[in-house]
Amino acid sequence: MITQNKGAILILSGPSGCGKSTLLKEVYKDISDYYFSISTTTRASREGEKHGVDYYFVSKEEFEKDIEAGNFLEYANVHGNYYGTSLKPIMKALHENKLVIFDIDVQGHKIVRKKLNDIITSVFITTPSLKELEFRLNNRSTDSKEVIQKRIINAQEEIKSFLKYDYLIINDNLQEASKQLVSIANAARVKSKLSSLTIIQDWLEA
Ligand code: ADP
Ligand code: 5GP
Repeated sequence: MITQNKGAILILSGPSGCGKSTLLKEVYKDISDYYFSISTTTRASREGEKHGVDYYFVSKEEFEKDIEAGNFLEYANVHGNYYGTSLKPIMKALHENKLVIFDIDVQGHKIVRKKLNDIITSVFITTPSLKELEFRLNNRSTDSKEVIQKRIINAQEEIKSFLKYDYLIINDNLQEASKQLVSIANAARVKSKLSSLTIIQDWLEA
């Protein structure tokens, strides 16, 4: 019989401040059976962020030990800090047929694509303009002027990668963008069924 369920990965990328976390919070109530991949990072926690909820906050030394131990599915240096996705919880969630959601940068997307291409759906999220991105980063008031400046410079490079993604969401109206993300999340599960190599045999024998 053809299996109905299969783990799938949904990757969200986009410049810092475009609204990825805000959008995810909006859509969680409308999608089921998902697992959000909590990344590990060496960046300092922002006010209100919790260890083990938003990120696992670790030292550079701890992060480098994990790299050596082969604990990451992918990792990258983003805006001057390490960020990485731990392999074990991802594999567990996939075995449980969950929709695994990643909020990772364009470098991470490239690496994971190479490793797990068949079960990946990806979406690039951005603001309607660079000016709006700058406004949101300043308005969020979580980062220093220097950090914001670095993120704005990096955003102009990151945006060039959007064609490597399956979908593009311009997060202007939050409700509209949320609806689009829910549709993509649902499609991601359907798409991952294609990766079954035994699909024809299963169908014939059912
Ligand atoms: P990211 O996770 O991509 O870094 P955030 O989710 O933290 O971005 O959003 C950055 C800022 O933009 C936050 O202050 C958030 O409230 C705001 N924001 C998010 N989406 C929208 C939107 N559609 N319209 C206006 N402001 C938004
Ligand atoms: P922030 O510091 O604003 O939380 O995140 C900065 C950037 O790091 C964002 O583009 C975010 O998508 C990316 N990021 C977060 N976690 C990971 C990760 O595990 N791997 C990679 N490659 N990028 C990540």
